[in-house]
Amino acid sequence: MLKVSLCASILAMLQSQLFTKTRREAPSDEVTRNATLLIRGGFINKEMAGVYSFLPLGLRVLRKIEDIIREEMDKIGGQEVFLSSLQNPETWKKTKRWADEDTDIWLKTKSKFGGEYGLAFTHEEPLALLMTGHISSYRDLPVYIYQFQTKFRDEKRPKSGILRGREFVMKDLYSFCRNEAQHKAFYEKAKQAYEAIFNRAGIGERTFITFASGGSFSKYSHEFQTLADSGEDTIYLDVKRRIAVNKEVMTAEVLSDLKIKEKDLVEKKAIEVGNIFSLGTRFSEAFGLLYLDEKGEKHPVVMGSYGIGPGRLMGTIVEVFADERGIVWPEPVAPFDCHLIEISGSGTSVKKRAERIAAKLERGASVLYDDRDLRAGEKFADADLIGIPYQVIVSEKGEAGKTVEVKQRATGETKIISEEALISQGTYRAFNS
Ligand code: ATP
Ligand code: MG
Repeated sequence: MLKVSLCASILAMLQSQLFTKTRREAPSDEVTRNATLLIRGGFINKEMAGVYSFLPLGLRVLRKIEDIIREEMDKIGGQEVFLSSLQNPETWKKTKRWADEDTDIWLKTKSKFGGEYGLAFTHEEPLALLMTGHISSYRDLPVYIYQFQTKFRDEKRPKSGILRGREFVMKDLYSFCRNEAQHKAFYEKAKQAYEAIFNRAGIGERTFITFASGGSFSKYSHEFQTLADSGEDTIYLDVKRRIAVNKEVMTAEVLSDLKIKEKDLVEKKAIEVGNIFSLGTRFSEAFGLLYLDEKGEKHPVVMGSYGIGPGRLMGTIVEVFADERGIVWPEPVAPFDCHLIEISGSGTSVKKRAERIAAKLERGASVLYDDRDLRAGEKFADADLIGIPYQVIVSEKGEAGKTVEVKQRATGETKIISEEALISQGTYRAFNS
């Protein structure tokens, strides 16, 4: 939502200074909408299959998504860390997850001075080991630890753009509890935090909690699946109850277990944006992560893990909201609140007016100011491709009456408002008063 307060002075970014250029042509080696549009808009750069770099516009979106996630993780008591990517093989041998036969997604590297490292694809092992130095008593529990950290996975055929990278950032939180009851209580809180995150990111309505395979310690894990025709997953959705079952675990027994009727289910394609797991004591037992209770008895710590891929979330937002003209960002994750577009030659009075508006607008909202000397059609096409929620067009038309045109990207709806109203109320108000 566009803030109208005059605090937080963010400098308008001049589009003429932005080093990234938009592209008219779709890249020939991308099949997904997310990669095609994000590359065309200059948000990301493809380095090789499944490997992408984030450029200024893309990084702004990624940071906004991370900030939303961070706020929600802090609210449920998370403490942020940043663990290493390079992993000690010995740590992973303890849980039998080092060998390629046991874990096929490892990327590994050898040091020229001898020895081998793994590039972390998750962090249960190193964190459980680390916590043996910090947890010894029931007073140390529960504790919740999270990070935004680069993961590496040797994904077989990464063709889904930033939805499935061989290198990607993951928010992973790990919970450490005294017992099953304490774990369950936190697990429910984490579910609610995830719902809040997906609501705030604009995809809440189409994101459904989904029963999925639980691994060895609990019957189910819970995925957060966002409906999208391009999704790799198939889910069976009970629209009324807002729950779903992943096709991978869909059997008559599971349905009766969950009290779901087959006739209430519709088959849908979806993207897994998050996944939460109960881990039981598998990792704490392997590393001797034990605590003493009030009576001096020893117990293994009960763990859980909670993942979200901010990049996958960003790609999902592109997949579900984009139209034939380009990306449509929901306001909370947009790279800028407002795209100010001047239609004039340089040195004209229109330009002076646009500069004045940019300076004033940026006191209440972040502004990308298209000050480039280009044809109107090119500027409009770029603005629609980049997908900032509101476009403010300053042109000759509004000179006499000191008005501007405000266009809402998502609906294409336009309004003519006075410069004064724009500056005092922001673009959001123009459409929502
Ligand atoms: P998938 O089933 O899609 O391969 P996963 O179940 O292996 O994913 P987790 O290990 O649970 O994924 O990871 C937590 C979250 O990290 C996922 O829900 C997803 O949002 C994100 N994620 C996983 N793999 C990738 C990837 N290769 N690229 C980008 N994000 C990813
Ligand atoms: Mg999964």
